[in-house]
Formats: sequence, structure tokens, C-alpha cells
Amino acid sequence: VIEIGQPEHSVVTTCAYCGVGCAFKAEMRGEEVVRMVPYKDGKANRGHSCVKGRFAWGYATHKERILKPMIRAKITDPWKEVSWEEAIGYAASEFKRIQGQYGKDSIGGITSSRCTNEETYLVQKLIRAGFGNNNVDTCARVCHSPTGYGLGQTFGTSAGTQDFDSVEDSDVIIVIGANPTDGHPVFASRMKKRLREGAHLIVIDPRKTDIVRTPHIEADYHLPLLPGTNVAILTALAHVIVTEGLVAEDYVRERCDWDEFQNWASFVADERHSPEAVEKYTGVPAELVRGAARLYATGGNGAIYYGLGVTEHSQGSTTVMAIANLAMATGNIGRRGVGVNPLRGQNNVQGSCDMGSFPHELPGYRHIGTDSVRNMFEEFWGVHLDKEPGLRIPNMLDAAVEGTFRGLYVQGEDIVQSDPDTKHVTSGLSAMECVVVQDLFLNETANYAHVFLPGSSFLEKDGTFTNAERRIQRVRKVMSPKAVYADWEVTILLAEAMGFPMQYDHPSQIMDEIARLTPSFAGVSYEKLDQDGSVQWPCNDKAPEGTPIMHIDHFVRGKGRFMVTEYIPTDERTGARFPLLLTTGRILSQYNVGAQTRRTENSMWHEEDRLEIHPHDAEQRGVREHDWVRLESRSGSTSLRATITDRVAPGVVYTTFHHPSTQANVITTDYSDWATNCPEYKVTAVQVMPSNGP
Ligand code: SF4
Repeated sequence: VIEIGQPEHSVVTTCAYCGVGCAFKAEMRGEEVVRMVPYKDGKANRGHSCVKGRFAWGYATHKERILKPMIRAKITDPWKEVSWEEAIGYAASEFKRIQGQYGKDSIGGITSSRCTNEETYLVQKLIRAGFGNNNVDTCARVCHSPTGYGLGQTFGTSAGTQDFDSVEDSDVIIVIGANPTDGHPVFASRMKKRLREGAHLIVIDPRKTDIVRTPHIEADYHLPLLPGTNVAILTALAHVIVTEGLVAEDYVRERCDWDEFQNWASFVADERHSPEAVEKYTGVPAELVRGAARLYATGGNGAIYYGLGVTEHSQGSTTVMAIANLAMATGNIGRRGVGVNPLRGQNNVQGSCDMGSFPHELPGYRHIGTDSVRNMFEEFWGVHLDKEPGLRIPNMLDAAVEGTFRGLYVQGEDIVQSDPDTKHVTSGLSAMECVVVQDLFLNETANYAHVFLPGSSFLEKDGTFTNAERRIQRVRKVMSPKAVYADWEVTILLAEAMGFPMQYDHPSQIMDEIARLTPSFAGVSYEKLDQDGSVQWPCNDKAPEGTPIMHIDHFVRGKGRFMVTEYIPTDERTGARFPLLLTTGRILSQYNVGAQTRRTENSMWHEEDRLEIHPHDAEQRGVREHDWVRLESRSGSTSLRATITDRVAPGVVYTTFHHPSTQANVITTDYSDWATNCPEYKVTAVQVMPSNGP
């Protein structure tokens, strides 16, 4: 029996794990959280939650949290605890020295999808206005940057088209490259409810995920494609829709660029894109593709939900555009029940992208090179802004190795663990002269840092998160910051020390500035959020109550734009030495690299990563259930235990990446999306062999 005290008061806040954005009542006794209770009026979760949000908040008070700032001259030196004043002063003087020596473009920063909108906005403001360059990037680089590019090109804005409620009116649901049961459990429950009511389901995934067959649900079609062939399958679906006369022609004529549609239609109609032609390299029987295409085009309201199995590929952006093409061709955009919906992984990945974290975009997805937009920010911030886009994370690391990039401010992100090609990341960081890490724990990136600034958990600050349905929700402080300052206050201290003072007494004032400068946020304020509970952007004069469904009368870009999506196989190939294809995913109880979930006192958070392998491939290698196996790729190797299952097809293996000892990114390649550099985490040629252990 666990004894818990009676709460004295409660505060409504938002879960800091996934992009569903469940609202919780934090029941408090003084500054101690007694329990987290799913909030019944939360519009994203309606009183539901998963195990992470409800129970995995203990990391906020974990003994391993670092609560004192620390500095060291060299990364081989021991850390020295110092005052906030000394740490901030040291970081600022080093950044200024580096800029004096190597030029203003020699430093930059990385924002976090774990932090609030207000914190992200301040970091990009510090870099653009205080550092004087656009070398700002976000951890969304490694997950949903292709969503930003692909939906921007086709629809005109980089966000999902629907609210979660919309699924209640869907007749056909496509889930591609996503495992909602584990990744987005509360939304998955709503999707499953609709499926149990009779909606049809098409799953496009190399792995037989839970949703393919679960109590009272069986997918009408599961297309078990080989990892890396998304574009070929989606183009084959389009081929069937076009050649069998299933296009919603009236919709396309009215809503989309007709010339571009015709160009696209003649491209996909080519016989080389037929289901029969692509079967030999996708591994999906042609009749399944034909059946799925007919069902999506003729089955009523068709909605597409996708995840990182779409974006984390060398053709991630192309895949997003291929999905958008399908939705436009069938008229499935602009009303309830339809749409294109990226299932965002982190709690605020939508918000971090909205807030101008990309090197080429100011808040609200406006290009830094657009004079009128840049001039507005220049006038408001009182500085001159560089009109050239800055460096992305991989380019910062390249430039560090080359000797032109020397200083980095990383807020709430562990690029050593989460970015591809670990050796390249550590080489870049090692070459820098001042790395400032702001985090709750001494993470792997902190091993390469010269300044450590203690971060604050979501329980210790005010702000907002934006979930996968563009819903902006309040994060409310329930306890004092353990290390004196909240993250937004630390950025202000650093900005002031850099000679660019920022004046804010409360995050609500930061949101007021965001609203003043960002048309899609013009109607957002803390008063409105407190009154309405939440609001979905765009929220402005035209949509004072927010926008649950986008592109109703016209696309944000005007006419919807069909994009030709040529399938180009990844350069990562199987062969005699590496005959299997590895793909990766998540389990429900863990979160990303496990920094938070592993620090919660509950044995299930300590589940190890396993390698799923098909019985045929296991037998060939003499591997039995629970055996240790060695997983080897061209990049590196690791060891983990085997699970033998037909969830994966012969020739495909699968693992999760939650435990640091697995070091999945030692295995993955450095191939990346052609448009955004999002790494190709989902396709790696590997060999598996029995081993004696780690
Ligand atoms: Fe948190 Fe996501 Fe679970 Fe909701 S579904 S409680 S947002 S982790």
C-alpha cells in the first residue's frame, strides 16, 4: 500500500511528454505533487491519459538533477560549481570572445521541443537579435522537419489539418509510419473507438503494429512494405486512383492548381508506378495496393495519420508531399473526418516549429529573406537582422569540424544521444570552444560542455505548449524552480549578459509579443487561454475562436499544389554482409531516450530495448527467444536481446531506442532527407548474429 497524503489544492497544466497534449490536474500539498489526475475538461484528452503522463513525473524531483550552475575551461577538467552570475557571465564572455575572433556567425543555438513556446521564442530571438545571425535550429530537425517542408509546399502551412475530434467522422483511416497505440495512446483510443464503430482501416507499415489487429479491430488492408519504399507505395496508390477514374475532379478543379494536377496525374499514371510494377521492390502484393486505393478513394471521409515512419527517411519530405497529393486528389481536405495529420512525437514539437526555430524562418513560418516580415521584427526588436538563413544542426557540426563554428547554446536537448552519426556529433562538439548546455540532468551532450546551466521541469514554470492538432494550452507552475530560475529566465539572463537586454516579468508578456508579431497567433493571450481552456491556431480577427479544421474554403497557399514525387531508393542498401533492414520505434511506457521515464521509480520504466526478428531469420542464425544478439551495421554495432515474432516480415528487424546502452544511433547511418536533413533513422542495413551479451 502506498501512502499518499491528501491534496490541499490543484493546478491545471499540460503533460510534457507526447504531442497529444493531455491536460492534468496536479493535486498538490504545498509544493509537493500528490498525484496527477487527467483533467476531464481537457479538450485534447477529455479526462483520459496514459501511464506516462499520469505516473512518470517523478523525474522532476529526481536526485540526479543538477541544481547549481557549473563551468570548466576544458571538457577534460572537472566541473566547478559557481553562482548563476558567474556561469552566465562566463558563457557570455566566451561567446563574445569567439565572435570577436572567428566572426559573428561562429556561434549558434538549438531550441527544444520539450520547452514552452515562450522559451523557444526567446532562444531564437536571442540568437537572431543577440548573436546577430540565424544559426538557430530545433530538435524537430530530426523528426518532423519534412512535415514542415512537405505540407508547406502543398498546402501552404506546416501543420496538421484537423483537430482530434475530426476522427469521429472518418469513414476510412490510413495509418502510415505510425504506431499510435504506443506513441500517442490517448488519441489512439479515440481512433480505435471510431474503428470499432465501423470505420475502415488501412495500415502502411513494415511492422504488424498493434492497431493492425487488436480486440474488435482488424485492418481491412495492411501493406507491409519494405523500409524505405513509402514513396513507391503512395505513388502506386495514386496510380490506381488516377487510372481507375477515382479522382474527385470537381474538388480538384475548384480547389487545386489544375495544370499542376494534370502534370502529376500523367506522372503517376505511368505504368512503372502501377502496383504490379512496384511489387517487386516494395514487397507488397499488388492486389492489396489496388484494394486499399479503391477503399480510400470511394469509402467516404478519408483521413491520413502519419508519424516518424514517414519523415525519418532520405525521401521524408517527398513522402509527406505524396500523402498530401493523395488527400487532394480524393477531395479529402477541408472538412471534418478527412485530412492529413502528422502525429507529433514530443509535447511541443509543433510549437517549437511555430516559434521560428528553423534557421530560415521567423515565427509563423515566414521566411527570413522576406523584407516586409524581417523589417517588422527589426523594428520591434530594435536591431538589424541578417537576411540569409543560418546553419542547420548538421551544418553547425560540419562547420565546427572545419573550424568556423566555435560556440553553441543548447536548451533542453541531447544531440549526442538523439542525433544521427554519433561520431560526427561528438567530433563537432569536441572542436567547439564554448558549449553551453541547459538541462535537468548531466546528459551525454553535457560531456562536451564548458558551461552547464540547470534547467527547469514543466512543473516549475508558466508557459504554453502546442499539441499535434495546433492546440495551444497553458502550462502552469505548480512548484518553485528547483534551481532558482525557469528556463525562460535563464535565456533572459544570457541575453542581458550578451548586451541584448530583454524585459519580461512573466511568460504572458512573451506570448503578447508573439501575438503582436505573428498573424496566426494574433488572438492568443493568457486571458483567452484561461477563459477558453485552449485555442487552436490560426486564432486572429478572421478566426477569433481558433481553427479546428484548416483549408476549409481554400488552402492557406491559395490553390492546393500537386507535387511530382519520384521514388528514389535510399543509398542504404542490403547486401551479403548486411542482409537485413533495421527499422525503429517506441514502446508506450518509455519516452525517447528515456531521460525522464527511466528516472521515475517504477520498474516498468526500466524495460530493456529488444530486437524483433522473424522466426525464419532467427532460425537461420541460430537465435532463440531472449538470446543476446549482436546487431551490426556499416556505422557500428550494439548488443541486445532477441524477441522472435512475425510482427516483422522476413528480412526486416526492429528495435526501440529508449535505453542509453542500446545506442541505436551508433547503428544508424548519416543519410538524411534531401530537403531538410532529417536523418534516415528508419532504414539501416544490418546483420544479426548470436552474442554472449553486451
Ligand atoms: Fe502525456 Fe501523451 Fe500520455 Fe497524454 S498520451 S498522458 S500527452 S504521454
